[in-house]
Amino acid sequence: MTGNSATTVKPAVPGNSATPENPAATASSADAAQSQPLGGRAAHVHTQSPLGFFCDFDGTISTKDRITAIMREFVPEASASLIERVNHRELSVRAAVEAMFALIPSARFDEVREFVTSTTVIREGFSRFVDYATEHSWPIAVVSGGFDFFVDPAIAPWRDRLTVFYNRIDTSGEYLRTIWPHPCDALCDADCGLCKPTILRSYEQSVRRSVVIGDGVTDFEAARHADFVYARASLLTECQRHGLPHQAFETFDDIVADLSSGRAQALLSTKRGGANR
Ligand SMILES: [Zn+2]
Repeated sequence: MTGNSATTVKPAVPGNSATPENPAATASSADAAQSQPLGGRAAHVHTQSPLGFFCDFDGTISTKDRITAIMREFVPEASASLIERVNHRELSVRAAVEAMFALIPSARFDEVREFVTSTTVIREGFSRFVDYATEHSWPIAVVSGGFDFFVDPAIAPWRDRLTVFYNRIDTSGEYLRTIWPHPCDALCDADCGLCKPTILRSYEQSVRRSVVIGDGVTDFEAARHADFVYARASLLTECQRHGLPHQAFETFDDIVADLSSGRAQALLSTKRGGANR
């Protein structure tokens, strides 16, 4: 998303260089955006995108959590306790993921990559969802707590229409080392690793209505900052518990059906509601 994002979905730069310090979200004139029509197809420049999607990867675009799968396959002894400590909030996601990769020798990285890419399954309807959003010039950011080496191959067919935020792996040492290019800003103290609320904040000027799509507790803080949430699994429970505006989904076709049967129109025509900005 760039300053003239009303007419394009593609980021001008690769998503992974869209750091919080230099977000791809560099727009724009909020005043001009208020007159932006539904769909954003008009040839306005310097406007916001009327709607933007922030989509989780693990358990959302991919049917199953990839980091958990890597843990169970490569560090089975350590994985159970690491996962449990995260679930009990004794350990941050960042610390657990870092600890997990630090147990895997760099010599096994090709094996890890092959395992994870060969077992990734894309959730039904994702391709149609990307088509639908692209038709309306609504940008999609993939905001993943996962890693380049398994997210990139999975989303390759749609890569030019997505902005992607994820983490990286350094294989130069004896053991795998995680690199976190998108850390928490001053407003977040959750030690996220990749900080989803920080990324949402970096889009505040360039997206008028933000929609989070996700499945897990790591999506909750981002969901709290969004105008609307498509949720499944534990994120659905959290949305219900906290009364966030949301809709349950199982496939991306559910999301397209909901958006096209009035949801998008409602989001664009009402004042910002439910957002905890
Ligand atoms: Zn954070």
